[in-house]
Formats: sequence, C-alpha cells, structure tokens
Amino acid sequence: MKFKPANNIQDLQYFGEFGGVNPSISDSSTYTFLSAKTMFDTFEGNADGCYLYSRHSSPSNLYLGEALAAMEGTETATVTSSGMGAITPVVLQLCEAGDHIISSRTIYGGTYAFLKNFTPRLGIDTSFVDITKLDIVEAAITSNTKVIYCESVSNPLLEVADIKALSELAKKHGLKLVVDNTFSPLSISPAELGADVVIHSLTKFINGSSDTVGGVVCGTQEFIDQLRNVNDGACMLLGSTMDSLRASSILKNLRTLHIRIKKHSENAMYLAEKFQEDGLKTVYPGLKSHPSHNIFSSMMNMEYGYGGMLTIDVGSLDKANALMELMQKENLGYLAVSLGFYKTLFSAPGSSTSSEIPEEEQTEMGLTDGLIRFSIGLDNDIERTYQQMKSCLQQLNILDKTNNLETANI
Ligand SMILES: *Cc1c(COP(=O)(O)O)cnc(C)c1O
Repeated sequence: MKFKPANNIQDLQYFGEFGGVNPSISDSSTYTFLSAKTMFDTFEGNADGCYLYSRHSSPSNLYLGEALAAMEGTETATVTSSGMGAITPVVLQLCEAGDHIISSRTIYGGTYAFLKNFTPRLGIDTSFVDITKLDIVEAAITSNTKVIYCESVSNPLLEVADIKALSELAKKHGLKLVVDNTFSPLSISPAELGADVVIHSLTKFINGSSDTVGGVVCGTQEFIDQLRNVNDGACMLLGSTMDSLRASSILKNLRTLHIRIKKHSENAMYLAEKFQEDGLKTVYPGLKSHPSHNIFSSMMNMEYGYGGMLTIDVGSLDKANALMELMQKENLGYLAVSLGFYKTLFSAPGSSTSSEIPEEEQTEMGLTDGLIRFSIGLDNDIERTYQQMKSCLQQLNILDKTNNLETANI
C-alpha cells in the first residue's frame, strides 16, 4: 500500500485532560515522582511514561514528535528549538574527531557554514560534492566517512537528491544517510526511500505561519534515545529544546499542512509554467525541463505536488533587487528570507541566505547573482498574481513585451 503521510498524522488522536479537543499544554519544566526508585530508573532511561525534566522530554513535545514521526514513517522523533538545533546535534551524535562527512554542495547556508567552518575545529571534515552525481559521491567515500548528508530538494538551487540510490550507496558502505526534508514535507518521504535520519526546520512549511522557529529529528527509537541520553546525548547536552507552548502551537498548524502544501504546489506549478513560457530562466522540479524532474516524480507522494519553491534568473543582482522591491510595492509578496508562509516570499540567495558560500563556489554550483528564490504563497487567485508579476517584469524590461526601453526604471 502506498505511504499516506497525512493519513498517518490524522489517525493520531490526542485529548486534553478535561476532554479538550487539543491536548493540554504541559506548563512545567520539572516533574514529581511518587518514588525515588522511579526517578533513578528515569535517569537510567528505562522508566517509560515518566517525565524527568523538560530539556529531556515533555508531554507537549512528545505529541508533536509523534505526529511528525507518523508523517515521516519513522519509529519516533524528537523536536528541537530550531532547524539548526536539529541538524547540529545529529551531526555531532553521528561523528567524532577523525570522521568524515560527504555533503551535497548545495545546502542551506547555515548547514554549509557549520560543516565548512565549525566542525573542522572538532576534527570532523566534510567533502562537498554534486549530490546528483552518484559516481562522484561514491568516489568521495573514505575509510573515515560516516555520513552522507543532503536535502531532498536543495536550497536554493532546487537540486533533487536521488534518495533511494543514495541510501543504497550508504548501506553498501555502512554509512548513515541524513536527509533535510524542509523543502518538501508530505511530497517526499525520505525514510520510506531508505534515509536513516530525516530532519526538518519546522520554521518553514510545517508551521507555516512565520511566527516561530523549530526543528525535528525523525529516526529510529535507538537513535532518538541516543540523542536524548542524559550522559552523552547531543540534544540533551547541547540543549536545543523546544518550549511546550510552541510544540502545541506547531501541532495545531500541522493539522492543515496537507491542504497548504497542495495549494503551495498548485500555485508554484502555475507560475513556473507561465514564467517558462514567457522565456524566463525558471527552475521548478515540476517542470519537465528540470534535470531531476523524473527522479522527483518517481519519489513523490503524487497528491502533494512538486512543492512551493521555484527560482527565476533575471540576469543581474540589480535587476533582481529592482524586481523584488517592485513586487513588494505591488503587494505581491514580501522581500524576506524563509519560506512556507501564506504570502509569497522572495529573496536573492547569493547575497542573503547563501552568502556564507564563497563567491567562486557559488559560481561553480550555478548560484548566479540574478537568481531570485520564491516561496510561493497561498494566493486564492494565482492567475491575477501572475498578471501582476508579469506587469512588474515588463515595467523593468526583464520581459520585453512593450518596447525596448533600456532598463529605464532601475
Ligand atoms: C531554514 C532551513 C534550515 C534551518 O532552520 P532554522 O529553523 O532556521 O534553524 C535548515 N535547512 C533548510 C533547508 C532550511 O530551509
């Protein structure tokens, strides 16, 4: 039977202690024990159903973690205070001094900076490769390699990782495949395709209201227990704990994720097709022109579409900036980083979210100055949005429908 992530979320029922339709929020950082022996057992990690201290676990965090594990089809999950607060403990739990990581070279700027600049201080080195070239990935494996790290759909270039093939490679060499699925929740289920650990920044589509940061690590019970171990667990000891109030608000937003993702995907597909027809350099995994369109199609849970992220290249940073300012003025979206909001968000990644990546490496990976990354919103009338965006493109002579005025407004 086909994997049904949203059904799995919906099949979980939680009630509040007075029969509330939402679970009660655990408004406590610490918990009492009826016996001293149980407290000892809980520290040892073998008193199921007992809570110790909220940096370790809390009822609200467990509810949210359980729902996200159901979505990803993993045994369990642990939620964290941010996406980076999920990524960094996973890397530090899986690797120690002398170990080696193979990472996609097109990943979130913060993850790139962590692997490039921070973990080498701890003796953990990373090779950055083109993750779509499996022979290059395999050739980079050394006797010290422990982890293959990638994003299902990469930020900001929207490269698609062949998770099945990467997981076969990882298994063959005894490595862990860690996949950041932030750009494609519901659409892609990495654990179903063989990923060992699935990470999300909940800040983006999953929470969807741009009012909080959060993260999650989905994996086996054994791995999540390791992360939470009081003696040497990276989540427990580095302390990137989510607050219970936030866990409960994210759980409520998760209830509508399937509807939102379908709309984000529908709107992004509409705009991507129109932009491409207009002759703009458009990258969207749903377009047949995308180099990994077939791989995405083979991995996806079809009903959720190809996601809400697309890019266009308007040729130069000046043009990109002028276009974004004009679109914001016309109330078509906001010039802002992040993604997954009801409103369209746009930014030029080369000078913002990926500015951690040196310019020459940006060029090599195809991250150009004129690239604009869009997180397409939930607009009810996407055709009207398109007409208004097209008018902005024409005003700036990025599309030359009317006359040949030389970029008069820039
Ligand atoms: C935003 C983002 C992160 C980091 O998440 P935070 O919640 O901001 O810490 C990691 N990976 C991807 C793909 C992201 O877009």
